[in-house]
Amino acid sequence: MIKLFNTLTRKKELFKPLKKEVVSMYHCGPTVYDYAHIGNIRPYIFADILRRTFEYNDFEVKQIINITDVGHLTSDEDEGADKVELAAEREKKGVREIAQKYTDQFIKDLGQLNINTEQTTFPKASEHISEQIALIKELEDKDYTYITSDGVYFDTSKFEGYEKLGKLNVEQLREGARVVKNPEKKNPSDFALWRFSPKTEKRHQEWDSPWGRGFPGWHIECSAMSMLYLGETFDIHTGGIDHIPVHHTNEIAQSEGATGKPFVNYWMHNEFITVDGKKMAKSLGNIITVEDIARKGVIPLAYRYWLLQAHYRTRVNFTWEALEAAQNALHKLYEQYFALQSGGEISETYQKKFTEYINDDLDTPQALALTWQLLKDDTVPPEDKRATLVSFDKVLGFNLDVYKPAEIPKQVLALSEKRESARKEEDWEKADKLRKDIEELGYTIEDTNKGPKIKPLNS
Ligand code: AMP
Ligand code: ZN
Repeated sequence: MIKLFNTLTRKKELFKPLKKEVVSMYHCGPTVYDYAHIGNIRPYIFADILRRTFEYNDFEVKQIINITDVGHLTSDEDEGADKVELAAEREKKGVREIAQKYTDQFIKDLGQLNINTEQTTFPKASEHISEQIALIKELEDKDYTYITSDGVYFDTSKFEGYEKLGKLNVEQLREGARVVKNPEKKNPSDFALWRFSPKTEKRHQEWDSPWGRGFPGWHIECSAMSMLYLGETFDIHTGGIDHIPVHHTNEIAQSEGATGKPFVNYWMHNEFITVDGKKMAKSLGNIITVEDIARKGVIPLAYRYWLLQAHYRTRVNFTWEALEAAQNALHKLYEQYFALQSGGEISETYQKKFTEYINDDLDTPQALALTWQLLKDDTVPPEDKRATLVSFDKVLGFNLDVYKPAEIPKQVLALSEKRESARKEEDWEKADKLRKDIEELGYTIEDTNKGPKIKPLNS
């Protein structure tokens, strides 16, 4: 029994898949015009936990993350320049090259966070132009469209229930709560399906269409590609909460307008990551990338750990201190796991609780707390703890089995032995001096009743 919070109803609902054993999911992917920041990556850690939760419950998962390499303008509302074309000019490279560079980087980032993409399909918008044109034609045949001097638009007043996902106030929309820059639009919420190329300049990417040469609007790619790969109705569609009022609202209008069938059964959205209380965003100049984390000497998986401490529908504020604390906790988890013998059995009591938590709308904070509870529980034999942690890690994805404790350099071991002799001779001054020498090499010594324990500093 899996319960998921559905944005459509604003309630936790029992998940009922369309097919008995297969779940179909579509996640709005990146616009590949720059490095993704860790806020941009949150949606995919969330999607990864969702995928792993279904697999934990013995479902097969069909998963799509699209790559937006054309049509996303600098404003989400059909204004401004194409982000990927702008990047090509900024970096003096071809559009394809730019798109490939940032797609590769994105997939590398996902790998560093142990996001499982082996079976994920990453379709590109620029490679699905004919499907997008076919969908626009379908909408035109059904009289949902009109043509202006710069493109083909969707008339949102003709689609009943346009406001349903965003619980938008239609009156406000009609009166122009959104700033209308295009006087040819019939309603402020209308959006472009196809844009004509400017007459005076040649775009890097443009195609012929029944309406004239140009390129697709940003929203149509997600409707066309999700329905191509997953069918006209599929189970789950996800994205950041900013997608609710515009992008996903428009996807529903286009898809349901064309097919007359429900598009998606469960809409799920993650909250933002903030810095000093403000959304992490390129435009605010407060972004941090996965590479920045690695450069600071923090392991990228610490970001995954930090994020899982909060529920995906909770807004979280990023600080380096919090990330370092997460890294300490993760190292502690690795060390404790490593010290356990193998050959045990999964504790059914703990597995049952774990499943209850993750199946309750992905309650990762509770699942993490349970992990520490298990480690402290003296009634569970160590080898069973290990087997149970291996099972939890299928969902949490900390890569427990890849961890090896850092090897202590010989020089540090030699100094530690000298320090032990000095301590035996009660030469405290010498012992202290040797401790400092060891610290200068990046290690610290903890004196335990089993002898000295050497650890890397900051671990
Ligand atoms: P953008 O590059 O702004 O189009 O965002 C790409 C994806 O990242 C979208 O799904 C956004 O919802 C998501 N996103 C952007 N900024 C944040 C943030 N600060 N926290 C969480 N998600 C974000
Ligand atoms: Zn999308």
